[in-house]
Amino acid sequence: MLRTLEERDIRFVRLWFTDVLGTLKSVSVAPAELEAAFEEGIGFDGSAIEGFARVYESDMVAMPDPTTFQVFPFEGGGSGESARMFCDILLPDGSPSWADPRHVLRRMLSRAAEKGFTFYTHPEIEFFLLESLPADGAMPVPVDSGGYFDNTTHAVARDFRRQAVLALERIGISVEFSHHEVAPGQQEIDLRYADALATADNIMTFRHVVKEVALTQSVEASFMPKPFTDQPGSGMHTHLSLFEGERNAFHDASDPMKLSKVARAFIAGLLVHAREYTAVTNQWVNSYKRLFPQALPDRITESPAYVCWGHLNRSALVRVPAYGKPNSARVEVRSPDSACNPYLAFAVLLGAGLKGIEEGYELPPGAEDDVWALSPAERKAMGYEPLPQNLSEAIDVLSGSELVAEVLGEHVFDYFLRNKRQEWEEFRHQVTPYERQRYLGLM
Ligand code: GLN
Ligand code: MG
Ligand code: MG
Ligand code: MG
Repeated sequence: MLRTLEERDIRFVRLWFTDVLGTLKSVSVAPAELEAAFEEGIGFDGSAIEGFARVYESDMVAMPDPTTFQVFPFEGGGSGESARMFCDILLPDGSPSWADPRHVLRRMLSRAAEKGFTFYTHPEIEFFLLESLPADGAMPVPVDSGGYFDNTTHAVARDFRRQAVLALERIGISVEFSHHEVAPGQQEIDLRYADALATADNIMTFRHVVKEVALTQSVEASFMPKPFTDQPGSGMHTHLSLFEGERNAFHDASDPMKLSKVARAFIAGLLVHAREYTAVTNQWVNSYKRLFPQALPDRITESPAYVCWGHLNRSALVRVPAYGKPNSARVEVRSPDSACNPYLAFAVLLGAGLKGIEEGYELPPGAEDDVWALSPAERKAMGYEPLPQNLSEAIDVLSGSELVAEVLGEHVFDYFLRNKRQEWEEFRHQVTPYERQRYLGLM
């Protein structure tokens, strides 16, 4: 690594980590400081980072993880390349910080490893390309008027995706698919599956790279879950699988749906605890404007609102895609949005699935009809519970969840609840343009 830095004349190494809400943090070090950084880490004031520490115990250490070292060739700007590494956050005594989302995920991954499992994830990341990001709440303008899989006419989006995918590949992030999504300006880029820690790091990197590439094309990218009232939101459907060594533990050739017992219990865990972990996979007030079946003039938005699973069913929370090779066996969770903290989201999904395996949860029958089209009474009879309808309800359910408290650890759990309650309170006070439009003249 030090040789690479020297040979390529790299003057800045960025050390990255993520706060509890999923915001990327960065501190640059000169290459000459790196050797010391590997020994002692870089000290910083944790009390200034969302969710990290109380003021009286604020000294924290960012310890670079050399396996994540990556040169960023496209950020040169004429003055040489830069490089980055993700960090683990430690306390001054060298023990892992209980506030570090990366550590929360690591802890769950080692729990899975104790049972012989490696956890893989494959995210489909949706986002909007906009002319600008109006700070005053004005309506943003999408860069095109394209739709699902549209190709030819939308030059900005097509060139953007090409540049973004090339940039990602150059830093070792493999992209499987990229295409225009349903809404004007909406794009989707799917990352190749990898172990969950690498994927979470890749998602953080992805958001940064996509925003940078957008800027080079004089447009802006946003991962906000639902920017437009009358367009679908941006989800981050995530495909999950457990491997035992080289073998996909979700596959069973003798089962009619090719699903192993492990897979069934894992899905059951995802369903039983879905309402509890939704505040983590969908952490913003705005997230709940997406988790809603919404009939648009020519289609229906494909985001889940009820707790059920299905084979090819796109209205279900968990979908089991048809697959060819045994090792492609996986389940797709459709609730997470593109603005979640991927470390915490993957940790709670894994926690719920493992709980299903540990407790031997029974998988209820799949929902093969369109769950949106059923009446509330029919859904109730079938046992399809609704996901929380807003952040307030999600926090209430979360606050009673032993499972999520255990997965996140007490510190992150308490901080998260406090922070999210505050967000809800702020939102609750707002009188919206919608209300003025509707009531001012009426009353
Ligand atoms: N945008 C939809 C969502 O919010 C997904 C659309 C799709 O990929 N089928 O989840
Ligand atoms: Mg997709
Ligand atoms: Mg999509
Ligand atoms: Mg999908």
